[in-house]
Amino acid sequence: MRRREALAVLGKSSLAFLFGADSFLRRAAQAAEKPTMAAPNHIRHFTADNPGIMTLQGTNQYVVGKENVVVIDVALSADSNMDGIIEQAEAMGAKKIEKILLTHIHSDHCGGALALRKRTGAKLGIHRSRAGYLGGEDFQYGDNDRIGFGAGELHVLHTPGHESGHCCFYEPGDKVLFSGDNILGFGTAVIRPPDGDMTDYLKSLERLLGFDISVILPGHGPLIGKPEAKIREYIQHRLEREQQVLAALRKGRNTIGDITQMIYVDVSPALQRVAEFSVQAHLEKLMREGRVKRQADRYLLLSDN
Ligand SMILES: [Zn+2]
Repeated sequence: MRRREALAVLGKSSLAFLFGADSFLRRAAQAAEKPTMAAPNHIRHFTADNPGIMTLQGTNQYVVGKENVVVIDVALSADSNMDGIIEQAEAMGAKKIEKILLTHIHSDHCGGALALRKRTGAKLGIHRSRAGYLGGEDFQYGDNDRIGFGAGELHVLHTPGHESGHCCFYEPGDKVLFSGDNILGFGTAVIRPPDGDMTDYLKSLERLLGFDISVILPGHGPLIGKPEAKIREYIQHRLEREQQVLAALRKGRNTIGDITQMIYVDVSPALQRVAEFSVQAHLEKLMREGRVKRQADRYLLLSDN
């Protein structure tokens, strides 16, 4: 799909699905009026040419550092994509891409990691729980590890939810959070069970509220200049969805399909499955809390408080 077509699809469907068309358009208009906030000098990005419903304008691949830089996420192995990343590093005066880090193992974040490793000699890291996934990693990292990038260090925050090995990277010097797919420039993240987990996701968002963040650099979409408001909005959005799921159950809707139909009124066929994943993820959270039980493909409310 070409970029323009993908953006047209985006305009029609996913954003309507994600937040409701009206509120999104209002938000986009407000964002367009604001001057673009810039990332600190030692951070640049190159957006991969993989636009789509799930990837928005494409995956943001970040370059962080000065002489020796770290690259966060590599979406595509195409030469043009690697050229784009390397050019950004060179424009920063970098002599070497020292490390490649991955926020998570979905292909739109790691699809080009081995290729960039081969081309640049960078050491490739991956979250401990995903060791061996790509088959060519050089090191692993876990929660609270520190990874140096010459001009400072990145703190690894294991933030499961979107993907069980998902990590955000926090740069305390400039209070920057690289949020991967936990928080996007617009819309919401997809939580797809069983690896995606709504309970974990909400815990991860709550945890991020504890950090002093001045800007969020997401895996997709524009940077986020009001991090705390955004994180709270994300949490609120999920809690509202949970209430909608409970309301549907109270009305006797008890299959994932039925509940989805009631809650997501305007979903395009392309996003129907994604909406169902979200409903399923909410139901699993409610089951874990002992509020819902499952009988075959039906979900029943146990206690209503
Ligand atoms: Zn992604």
